[in-house]
Amino acid sequence: MSWTGDPVWLADVLRAEGLHVIEHDGWRERGHGDFRDIRGVLCHHTGGGNPNDWRYVRDGEPKLPGPLAQLVLEKDGTYRVIAAGVCWHAGRGSWPGWPTDNANYHVIGIEAVSRGREPFDWTSQQIDAYQRGTAAILRRIGRDAADCVAHREYSSEGKIDPAGLDMHEFRRAVQGFIEGGAPMSAAEVEQIQEFITAFCGPIGSDIKDVREQLCGHGQRDAGQYAGWPQLDGLTLVEAIADIRTRLEKLELGGTA
Ligand SMILES: [Zn+2]
Repeated sequence: MSWTGDPVWLADVLRAEGLHVIEHDGWRERGHGDFRDIRGVLCHHTGGGNPNDWRYVRDGEPKLPGPLAQLVLEKDGTYRVIAAGVCWHAGRGSWPGWPTDNANYHVIGIEAVSRGREPFDWTSQQIDAYQRGTAAILRRIGRDAADCVAHREYSSEGKIDPAGLDMHEFRRAVQGFIEGGAPMSAAEVEQIQEFITAFCGPIGSDIKDVREQLCGHGQRDAGQYAGWPQLDGLTLVEAIADIRTRLEKLELGGTA
């Protein structure tokens, strides 16, 4: 596979998926060198579960300097874009199609904010954003859900993250989002509405016509049912009811 460059498109691709994104200053220049090529997404939990977990992901510590992942996913589903370059998150391990013990130069890391032990603190917004964001990245790089991998699945170092997430179910959802395509933007929705209006007239006018046919001119825009002059002011329903009553009387008269 040819060199595809650093994922400087991360923020745009996540936003296009309808996700909330915070871009941290300098993220496009942050990282431990450039990607070779991008083959997938490695899923992690932070192990903290606190609002400041992203600081550790950005800065790391003396023996393991940051950035430690390109993305941090908050509990409310917000993505923090930390880095576009290579990050130290994969460690040693293997996965079909990924280079053994060298995945950092080939996969994007998402650190989801979670304490990582029972009782699990995942939120539904967070899991939804986790799956949609992963799908958006995989769609962008032309891969499918087989390249969405848990750190515990890749690692030969006994990693457990992301704890509490069933990755078979997770990949099924991701594949669904990949195939569903990115949702329409507000501008696209507006364009379609303009198109419909141009060809069909404002939505709602036809319903008013139908109501007028049933109830008479008098009700137009007034919310009243004034009936038809030809029917002595009765509406269609009232007129039919009137005819029925007369017919029943006739029948009774005939058989008596
Ligand atoms: Zn991990």
